[in-house]
Amino acid sequence: MKQIKNHTLLSALCDNLDNTIAVTNPADQTLIGHVQAHSREEVEATILRARDAQKAWAKTTAKQRAAILMRWYELLMENQEDLARIMTLEQGKPLAESRGEVAYGASFVQWFAEEGKRAYGETIPTPLADRRIMTIKQPVGVAAAITPWNFPIAMITRKAAPALAAGCSFVAKPAIQTPLSAYAVVELARQAGLPDDLLAVVTSEDAPMIGDVFCNSTHIQKISFTGSTNVGRILMKQSAESVKRVSMELGGNAPFIVFDDADIDLAVKGAITSKFRNAGQTCVCANRFYVHDAVYEEFVHKFSLAVDELTVGNGLDDDVVIGPLIDDNAKLKIKSLLDQALQQGATVSAGGDDLGGQFFEPTVLTHVSHSMDIVQAEIFGPIAPVIRFSDDEELIEMANDTIYGLASYFYSKDINRIFKIAEALDYGMVGVNEGVISTEVAPFGGVKQSGIGREGARQGIDEYLNTKYICLGSM
Ligand code: ADP
Repeated sequence: MKQIKNHTLLSALCDNLDNTIAVTNPADQTLIGHVQAHSREEVEATILRARDAQKAWAKTTAKQRAAILMRWYELLMENQEDLARIMTLEQGKPLAESRGEVAYGASFVQWFAEEGKRAYGETIPTPLADRRIMTIKQPVGVAAAITPWNFPIAMITRKAAPALAAGCSFVAKPAIQTPLSAYAVVELARQAGLPDDLLAVVTSEDAPMIGDVFCNSTHIQKISFTGSTNVGRILMKQSAESVKRVSMELGGNAPFIVFDDADIDLAVKGAITSKFRNAGQTCVCANRFYVHDAVYEEFVHKFSLAVDELTVGNGLDDDVVIGPLIDDNAKLKIKSLLDQALQQGATVSAGGDDLGGQFFEPTVLTHVSHSMDIVQAEIFGPIAPVIRFSDDEELIEMANDTIYGLASYFYSKDINRIFKIAEALDYGMVGVNEGVISTEVAPFGGVKQSGIGREGARQGIDEYLNTKYICLGSM
């Protein structure tokens, strides 16, 4: 912790916490610090304070809110290095990736500071001469979020920034593996001048307790969740009782397709970043590779050589590009998927070894068929199964044969094929000749069981706004 300069960022680690949760480093299991374990009563009290604070916030102008959000953005960027170190310590991703995530997370704050000013209503041509018809947009009220450990900052700012810009207050429950990043970004919002109680973090080892309080609270009008499809289903069911608005950013099973006319070197480069970023632990990671017969040998050869070059280790070390997996369970899960694939006939073309601790070698598998478990499951780890195909129609059927529909990727130089395939893929997002496509200006989200709603872009703020219709009669 010595290298972290802004100590107030770690105010969450103060000595006088009464009931605490330990936070450990996934690279070496050392203790990093503690955060508060909130009780049900404390979570409920936080929601009530957020409800009260929101009333005054909703009366401010979008321009006033933007000024505070812009200052928050600047502070996030001024503290980029400290935030990145905290993130690498508790999450494990290499420092360069953590720095990238801080900038990516901050970009949502900057973007929505501006978008808040553009929450336009409409005047609508009236069908009756004595009436005037208009709409205005208003904040939904208190929004709550449950976020995962794989993007400890960006998954909070991508939700909190549009909520605050819209005039909502916001209560977040981060994953218990990565709460320090959450407390740090909230501390910076406080330093930026955000009034008390508008943005709060609650933490508990009992995630279902917080989920239950959030979903059943009549003071919360909106739940935004990023995480597994299973937990998303639970939260949607729980939210039904109080008829809450929900946004769900759930699991994925992204196909990465290489056609026979692709630039193979470009495809290999894209495959490496898309598959192995964050040690393969993102919902938009390439999960299964489909490579055309004509270029299969060349792609597998070049891809395997590139994978052999990837350095695995502690994310704080300079040359490391793949950090540890988040915990023992994550490693057990990918080991069991790998064993199953080998039993079903797959062969290892690169990697394949358990490197001890929570580290696993980046791995390429060949002789894989579409029906294998490793192709059907969300791997969430550094294993790349490669499948051969020869027919575009059959390829599309395989690519769409999943309950998920988040990200998809393909490589081709043929403009006709590019449009045809981009339109045929049943996914919320398509990367063409590009392996990393997330940006604050584009709508992020899935179809099918990958979710509901969009984050980022001009659409992202609508998730936190109600449209009110006003009719002026007897004019
Ligand atoms: P992952 O497998 O990536 O950890 P999860 O969906 O299990 O994905 O977790 C994402 C977030 O959901 C985390 O903050 C976790 O604590 C929370 N969570 C897990 N189970 C529940 C639940 N039953 N109710 C509410 N939140 C939950």
